[in-house]
Amino acid sequence: ISYDRQRGWDAGSLHPYRPIVLDPTAMVLHYGQAIFEGLKAYRQPNGTIAVFRPMENANRFNRSATRLSMPQLPNDLFIRSIRALLHVDRDWVPKNLGQSLYLRPLMFASEPMLGVRPSDQYEYILIASPADPFFSADPTPLRVWITHEYVRAAPGGTGEAKCAGNYAASLLAQAEAFDAGCDQVVWLDAIARTQVEEMGGMNLFFVEQSGDQTRIVTPRLTGTLLAGITRLSILQLAADAGFQAAEIDLSVDEWRDRCASGTITEAFACGTAAVIAPIGEVRSSKSSWLVGDGGAGPITMRLRKSLLDIQHGISEDRHGWMEEM
Ligand code: PMP
Repeated sequence: ISYDRQRGWDAGSLHPYRPIVLDPTAMVLHYGQAIFEGLKAYRQPNGTIAVFRPMENANRFNRSATRLSMPQLPNDLFIRSIRALLHVDRDWVPKNLGQSLYLRPLMFASEPMLGVRPSDQYEYILIASPADPFFSADPTPLRVWITHEYVRAAPGGTGEAKCAGNYAASLLAQAEAFDAGCDQVVWLDAIARTQVEEMGGMNLFFVEQSGDQTRIVTPRLTGTLLAGITRLSILQLAADAGFQAAEIDLSVDEWRDRCASGTITEAFACGTAAVIAPIGEVRSSKSSWLVGDGGAGPITMRLRKSLLDIQHGISEDRHGWMEEM
C-alpha cells in the first residue's frame, strides 16, 4: 500500500506481489529511508495459524519509523496486512513441524526527489517466505567473531531502529567473520569498544553460575542495539523457569575471564530466524576461547525448547503471545 503526506495511507490499494518500478531519484536509493520487521506464522496442532507477538513487531516498526522520520503505519493496518496475506492462501504456512512462514514487512521512501529531507511518499510491502525448521534436537553451536575494528551503531544513531542502513554498516565485518571461519559478528559499544552489545541479526544471552544460583543475563538496551522480541520473551521464560533473569553490562574481557573461571557456562544468540542458537566458540583478532566445552548447553536447550513449544502450539501459551490469524 502507498502513503502520501497529504492523503495518508491508501489502505484500499492492496496489490499482489510484483516487481516494483521506482524513479532513479526515489529517495530510499539515496538517503536510505527504509525500515523493516521480521516475524513468523506457525501452523498450530489444531490446524489454525498463529503469529508470534505481532503487536510487538508493529510497535517496533513504528519506533523505527519515528527515528527515520517516516510516517506511522497504524498498528491495525500492520496486523490487517498479515491477516490479508494469510487469507489469500493459508497453505503458504508450511505444515511440517518446525517450519514456519517468515513475514517481512517493509516500508521505504518512494518520492522522486534529489534534495535531502524526509520523503513525502512511501510504500509498505509485506513479503512472505517459508522458513526451514530450526527444530533439530541438536543444533550446531555457532562460532562467533568479535569485531574490534568496526562499530554497528553509535549513541544517538539508528542502532535501536530496524533500518536498512544498520545492516549495510555491518556487512564488511560480517565478511571478515566469514573469513575468520565464523558464523556471525559480535558487536561492541561504539565508545569504549569494550562492552558486548549484540550480533548481526540476533541478541546475546549468557548463563552464569554463582554458588547454586543460575542467572540468565543479556546486555542491557543501551540505545545502540535492537530490542529483540525473542530477547524479551526469553527474559520472561527464564523467570518462569525459576532462574534469575537480568539485563547487565558485560565486557569482552569479562566474557572471556568468566568462561575461563567457569562462571559463564553457556552463551546463546536469539532472534526470530534462528529462535535460539547456542554459541560454542568466540574468536577475535586479540583472543579466542570456548564457551563451556564448546557444545550446546543444557539451559540453552531447555529455554529453546520452551520457546519453540509455545510457538508450535505444543505447550500452553501462558502469556498470550500467539495471535491467531
Ligand atoms: N538484533 C538485530 C540486529 C536483528 O536484526 C535482530 C532480528 N530482528 C535481532 C537482534 C533479534 O530480534 P528479534 O528477536 O525481534 O527477531
